[in-house]
Amino acid sequence: MSDELRAEVRALMPRAKQDLAELVTFRSVANPDVQPAQECEKVARWIVNAYEELGFQDVAASPTPDGSKAVHAVLPGPEGSPTVLLYSHYDVQPSLGEENWKVPVWELTEQDGRWYGRGTADCKGNIVMQLTALRALKKVHGQLPCTVKIISEGSEEQGTGGLEAFVPENADLLRADAICVVDTGNFAVGVPTLTTSLRGMVAVDIRLDALGSVMHSGMFGGPAPDPVAGLIQVLASLHDEQGDTTVDGVVHGKKWDGAQYPPEQFRKDAQVLDGVDLVGTGSVSDMLWTRPAATVVGIDIPSIVESASAIAASCGARVSLRIPYGETGGAAIDKLTEHLRRRVPWNLRCTITPVAEGDPFLGSLGGRAFSSMSSAMEQTYGRELTTEGQGGSIPLCNVLDDTFPEAEIMLYGVEEPKCLIHAPNESVDPSEIENVALAQALFLVDYGAARS
Ligand SMILES: [Zn+2]
Repeated sequence: MSDELRAEVRALMPRAKQDLAELVTFRSVANPDVQPAQECEKVARWIVNAYEELGFQDVAASPTPDGSKAVHAVLPGPEGSPTVLLYSHYDVQPSLGEENWKVPVWELTEQDGRWYGRGTADCKGNIVMQLTALRALKKVHGQLPCTVKIISEGSEEQGTGGLEAFVPENADLLRADAICVVDTGNFAVGVPTLTTSLRGMVAVDIRLDALGSVMHSGMFGGPAPDPVAGLIQVLASLHDEQGDTTVDGVVHGKKWDGAQYPPEQFRKDAQVLDGVDLVGTGSVSDMLWTRPAATVVGIDIPSIVESASAIAASCGARVSLRIPYGETGGAAIDKLTEHLRRRVPWNLRCTITPVAEGDPFLGSLGGRAFSSMSSAMEQTYGRELTTEGQGGSIPLCNVLDDTFPEAEIMLYGVEEPKCLIHAPNESVDPSEIENVALAQALFLVDYGAARS
């Protein structure tokens, strides 16, 4: 069976390329100031047609609160079979300057064995991958082994939260036993990977008041409390000498047991200047995926140009804290607030205001769907599955987790690091479309057989 599926997926690759080429011509940036709104409408319609052609039912593009449309559809599997929800998004990032591209932005171009163009990986490559898997299954089995639902979002890259509002309001439409968030990718080409952990983020503003007015630093400097000096003391307490984040009560020191991010690669990706050290006592994977990271993202003090020889009356800073799994957003805000407040010197007046709160996310690590997916990936690639994390968050994952607490949620896809998603010269490796499609199909077969 798996050999037949492998052959069928391969036979469908020319069609996948043709589909992707068509999808890339739609400039579906979900911002009317950047591209006309019809571009998104066109892709939504294209996806509706593709799923109708596959025999899906109730195929529709429904409006969401931010004005974007979410395409959804269902194809019932055998009686009693589990339900799988396949997620993708059809909007894309803007070009970031056509002059920065070595190929046309909105035209699929093959070069060095990769397919270039905006959205070829993120996430139109995943849309094509899903269609290829489903087409292969229908061809080989005549029907799908599970009930399959799809949801394709129209404004993911904008962060305007259309689908995040749509999900809880349409829970019955989307309810599933396993949810595949197909918008990440392998650790490297040919290395089967599930993304299992996303850090959350909280942020607070701290403001310190010391004087009734800005005062001359010669006449008053010395005994007068300088709120900027106080703020520097407070902010300096967020890291120790090694650069580890040290917020009282926030867990740190955990180890990542999946893929290891090579430090040299990380230096390159993060554009760390020659001779400058990486910080922290853990490996890059530990620091990025299992540990907290505090960042002072803004400070309100006079700029050098606007400065005078004077003591500021007040000042402030915004502190963001990435939090690993094991913390909750609410508790982390309290811990950060308490940590900062306790370090304010000289009874400076201190106000701390929460400005952002998002929980970390942990994907499925061992349920029935996870084991089906692991074996599907391993069978496809002929090597052991690994796991990676993501330093940033995907708020939709938390919404799905809250709305469907029983569902297993898994993240994977065709977006490996060479794809340069969100950057100029985005591309996809066609072998990843082929292999992930095969893994997707094998997963559905194995998971469908799990019905009790
Ligand atoms: Zn994406």
